[in-house]
Amino acid sequence: MKAVEYEGPRKMAVADRPRPKITSPTDALLRVTTSGICGSDLHMYDGRTDLKEGTIVGHEIMGVIDEVGEAVRSVKKGDRVVLPFNIACGYCHNCHQGFTNACLTMNPEAPSAAYGYAGMGPYQGGQAEFVLVPYADFNCLKLPGKPGDEWEDDFLLLADVFPTGYHATELAGVSPGKTVAVFGAGPVGLLTAYSSILKGAPAKLP
Ligand SMILES: [Zn+2]
Ligand SMILES: [Zn+2]
Repeated sequence: MKAVEYEGPRKMAVADRPRPKITSPTDALLRVTTSGICGSDLHMYDGRTDLKEGTIVGHEIMGVIDEVGEAVRSVKKGDRVVLPFNIACGYCHNCHQGFTNACLTMNPEAPSAAYGYAGMGPYQGGQAEFVLVPYADFNCLKLPGKPGDEWEDDFLLLADVFPTGYHATELAGVSPGKTVAVFGAGPVGLLTAYSSILKGAPAKLP
């Protein structure tokens, strides 16, 4: 398969890599239809992290399930899904409390895991034709519609950008009537402003 890999500071390349294989009954193999490039990928691109050369990057991923392990129940071949960027087990102490960003199972070196990301476990990213999804029952969000339809670009935002912006409004306690100032109006900032509008605190978009 074709995949975008990190080859050192400011060096990314499209490489031929073997298609990932299901190794656990809880895995799924996803055929990627769309993936995003994140602002936080720039830390790795610029060489500010210890990302291993040869890592396939990309943690904002959506696609169609190609194959599932024999224990996977909630998704099947042909389902269209988006993957939240944090990989989580769904059953550890932190996952149980909703802190899936600090899953204790998926990364032996630190509590948190993600696709194709420095310091967040051995997982390959989704800037590739296929990506392996661990604990597919927990890590796939099923979507309606068909790949390439008018919702494709909007659904991709559910992997990271929109929930990250929305979560900022949760942490800030945004509620109807509040006044919200967003510092930094990149994609996440814009969706923080949009989430504030959804929560009844009118924001003025630039
Ligand atoms: Zn991201
Ligand atoms: Zn967990």
